[in-house]
Parts: sequence; structure tokens; C-alpha cells
Amino acid sequence: MVSNDDRVTDQTATPRDATRPAALPGTRPHRIGLLEGDGIGHEIVPATREVVDAAVAAAGGIGVEWVPLPIGAEAIDTHGTPLPEETLDALEGLDAWILGPHDSASYPEPYRRQLTPGGRIRKHFDLYANIRPARALTGVRAVSPAMDLVVVRENTEGFYADRNMAVGSGEFMPTPDVALAVGVVTRTACERIARTAFDLASKRRGRVTIVHKANVLSMTTGLFRDVCREVGRDYPSVQVDDAHVDAMAALLVRHGDRYDVIVTENMFGDILSDLTAELSGSLGTAASVNASGTRTMAQASHGAAPDIAGLGRANPIALISSAAMLLDRIGDTSDPSFAAAARRIDAAVDATVGCGIATADLGGTASTAEFTDALIARVRDL
Ligand code: ATP
Repeated sequence: MVSNDDRVTDQTATPRDATRPAALPGTRPHRIGLLEGDGIGHEIVPATREVVDAAVAAAGGIGVEWVPLPIGAEAIDTHGTPLPEETLDALEGLDAWILGPHDSASYPEPYRRQLTPGGRIRKHFDLYANIRPARALTGVRAVSPAMDLVVVRENTEGFYADRNMAVGSGEFMPTPDVALAVGVVTRTACERIARTAFDLASKRRGRVTIVHKANVLSMTTGLFRDVCREVGRDYPSVQVDDAHVDAMAALLVRHGDRYDVIVTENMFGDILSDLTAELSGSLGTAASVNASGTRTMAQASHGAAPDIAGLGRANPIALISSAAMLLDRIGDTSDPSFAAAARRIDAAVDATVGCGIATADLGGTASTAEFTDALIARVRDL
């Protein structure tokens, strides 16, 4: 399950985020996969592409070569499967891609019951770190207006039966009236996610909160807590504390502005990051990336929103901000202009929403296209 690239082996070296590969000089356009997905994906993915192109050009970057790939309901029509082999093969040759949301509940059987295309991609490429920032935007009503934190969620094991087994499922029923689920926690997975969190905190406000439930799940989440603490000893400048997940939910509502980086196991991270998304604003602004040692997939936290698909009402911010995170990671490793493009996008989102231009979910009147155009104007002007 763990590739050699991703394993943390050199404890004597300066700690470096294992999900960020070493810098390479960039001399040609970066090839980025583009997977539209379903529902509002057909609106927000093209909008994201336009914004990225504008930001990279404005930052003087060498540009992006987009690689559109089939996925989702359209791929069922054209290829007989929501995730064609040709898409997986093409992704093998790419370091980064943007994935639109998928509406797998609307797929015909047998695809509806299968692991979603995004889940299959995460598993196939061992994208072990799900990084989900929650930052309140100026001008957006938020329960926690000063929140600025990042949830670093372990993405490959824990209690999620769809991904914690190499073969078979971690959830099963010996009789129709008995259901069992297996939780998996390994030292290797804890170490690499902890390192991702501590590296991130080193570049932010220098605080990591480890979230677990070691008073009840003492072996599994206890191992998670203890390994995170061990890794933390390599980062003397980062302050560490920990909390039980139930207490953490309450603390986030009460003092959401006090946290910097929260590292936690899979299911706790899934739940807490929806909470922080809502506390800091809206699902429509909640960005995320899934990453391994070599690859980054930008994917908004929200779903395909079939209720508003095709109406021009989708908020593209979550995916655009996810793409900015992806550019920042490319910027770190190959081309500083991509990091500059990422900063441009973040500042332009703040400036656009800050002056009252927003889609309906944020209380505004702009369509997806109008918001995107206003954002691109600011991306160019900043
Ligand atoms: P999934 O299980 O695939 O994550 P879901 O059923 O939880 O999906 P979403 O598709 O995320 O739900 O939609 C939840 C609600 O939020 C819907 O009313 C939808 O219209 C709204 N919503 C989600 N994303 C956006 C967006 N980008 N812009 C505007 N509204 C959105």
C-alpha cells in the first residue's frame, strides 16, 4: 500500500514535507490533467481552467498544457465505465490534475455501488494526504469569521472500509443481523501524514493539534496520537497539543480561530473538515487537495450539486482555490511563478468576494460566468 517514494526513512535529514517532491527546474509547460466529472463539474472545471491560465500568464509562468480526460457519466456513455483505463493510464504520466465532482449516485448499476471514480484514483495513486484549509473570506458571513486553519486528514486507512483493505472490504456481515467493521492504523501511514502536518505548520503559525479518541479506541487512535507526537519531536519550533474528536467538534464551534493545523485519521478528518468548511463560510468555498509524494489532485470538498447543475449558479471558488493549492505545490517544486500564480488567485478571490461579487450560495447575484470574469479581471490587475 505504501510506495517507496512515500516512505519516510531518513530521520536525520532536515524534515521535509514528504508530499512535496524536490525542486526541479521547469523549462516547458506543465501538463495538468483536466477531469470535468458530473453535474456542476461541467461549469466549475472550465471556469477553473480559465482562472489558472490567466493567473499563470499574469505571473509570467511558462504556461499549462491541459490534458482533458474522460470520467463520470459521460465516460459511461462513451467508454462503458466511469473511470476508463485510458484515463488512469494518462494520469500515470502526469504529476497533477484537477478533478471535478462526480454524481455516482446517478450512475446506472453496477457503477452506482462501486467505489467512486475519485475514490479509485485516490487509492490507485496512494494519495494519502487530504489537505483541507478552512479560511473565512472577507465579506462572507461565517460562524467563525476569524477561522484560518488546515485539516490534514489521513486518506488511506482508519475506519473507511472502502479503502483500508488491499483485497475485499473492511466491512462485512456474518449474519443479516450482525455488521462488523475493521479499523486499520499503521505506523507508516501515521508517520507520513504527521510529517505532512508538521511541515505545513512550520510554514504557518507553528501549531499542530492531534485529534484522536484514545480514551476509547486506545490502540488504534492511540497509535495515531503517539506516532504524531514522536514525529513532532523533529519539529521543536512547532507547538503540539491534542484533543479527543468529540471535544474538538465543540472547541471548533467555540474557538475556531485558535487552531492552525489539525492532523487526524480518515473518518474524523472527513467529519471535522465539513464542520470547519461550514464554520468558515460555505461548502462552495471549501478547497482541498489529495496528495502523495509525487502527485497532487485538486478536488473541491463539495459534490456535483445536481440540483443546480446547468443553471449557471454554481460557486467555482472551492475548485479554483483547490487549483491554487495545486499551483502552489508545483511552484514549490519546479517553477516559482506557479506559486506566484497561486497567491494571485487567492488574493483575487478575497478581492472579488470582498467587494460583494458572489454567487447565490454566498448571498450574491452573480452567475458562475459573471463571477469567473470578475475574478479573472482581478487576477490580471493585482
Ligand atoms: P457528495 O455526497 O457527492 O459530496 P452531497 O450530496 O453531499 O454530495 P453536494 O452535491 O455537495 O451534496 O450539494 C449539497 C448542497 O450544496 C446542494 O444544495 C448544492 O446545490 C450545494 N452546493 C454544493 N456545491 C456547491 C457549489 N459549488 N456552489 C453552490 N452550491 C453548491
